[in-house]
Amino acid sequence: MNMSGQSFSVGGTPADRRIAHLDMDAFYASVELLRRPDLRGLPVIVGGGRDSGQGADYRGRGVVTTASYEARAFGLRSGMPLMRALAMCPDAVRLPTDFDEYRRVSRLFKHAIAQIAAVIEDRGIDEVYVDLTAVPGVEIEGGAAVAREIKHEVFAATSLTCSIGIAPNKLLAKIASELAKPDGITVVEAGDIPARIWPLPVGRINGIGPKATEKLAHLGVRTVGELAALPLARLVEAFGPTYGPWMHEAALGHDDRPIVTSRPALSRADRMRMSYSPTVYCASMVTPRLRARSAAASLCIESITPLLGAATARGGAQGSGSKYSTRRGAV
Ligand SMILES: [Mg+2]
Repeated sequence: MNMSGQSFSVGGTPADRRIAHLDMDAFYASVELLRRPDLRGLPVIVGGGRDSGQGADYRGRGVVTTASYEARAFGLRSGMPLMRALAMCPDAVRLPTDFDEYRRVSRLFKHAIAQIAAVIEDRGIDEVYVDLTAVPGVEIEGGAAVAREIKHEVFAATSLTCSIGIAPNKLLAKIASELAKPDGITVVEAGDIPARIWPLPVGRINGIGPKATEKLAHLGVRTVGELAALPLARLVEAFGPTYGPWMHEAALGHDDRPIVTSRPALSRADRMRMSYSPTVYCASMVTPRLRARSAAASLCIESITPLLGAATARGGAQGSGSKYSTRRGAV
């Protein structure tokens, strides 16, 4: 028991929280392939401008924003200079980025999720956290049944697949969504941490970047489990009084950050409407079946939808800008 009287699990969060992290699979490349089905099955990379030359003739300083899974098989990755990528895989088809289109599809998939669960934290153009705790049916298969429903709605709206991780908190949900990519659903419970999280490299923790990873390697720490076993004092010594303890908690799977449904970038009016929680929670209770029957419930969805659109339009560019410098993975 803690001070607030809630029960906490081994994972260090209220045991009944069900948080999903949803990440679209190779988002920009997948959106492009919808328009260019002839390129399916080929190594496709998205990045650079429209007039910089094709294939090995590409001359420019752009970087890969997304590589299709076929391109990843050649070692091509997000953030890699395009000229290097095309030297490594001369047959890769390069498509210029078209952010207007990605933002359009981003709004579609977020709206689709809101049909089932409206407590959504926008994390940029291709990923969100979703609070499933109050969603009907979340108790089935640890939330996997609701996740299947969300994936179904997202696919119906966009013809695109996504991967969903479900866990008691955001930190674990984010790690979980990577575990079965592409097109996967992974449920990680607090009790699964030793078996499923601890063997992973420390870099899988969102917030432990290349520099910290290297520094940890010098301390003999490569996996999350090794990080969890390192005495806290050594982490504080190496990383300071804030980052050190945070790493320790993260390695134990502890994270009590709430889902943040509004962003500072939103206008004051948007924020006030977003923070009107009865609307948000009402919408979170609405399944497509219920929605069809209830005009009142339908109203809730309608009032949320424009807000999601606004959050996407304003938040998308920021999210995508920071992502390439901080994330290993790909959109
Ligand atoms: Mg993605």
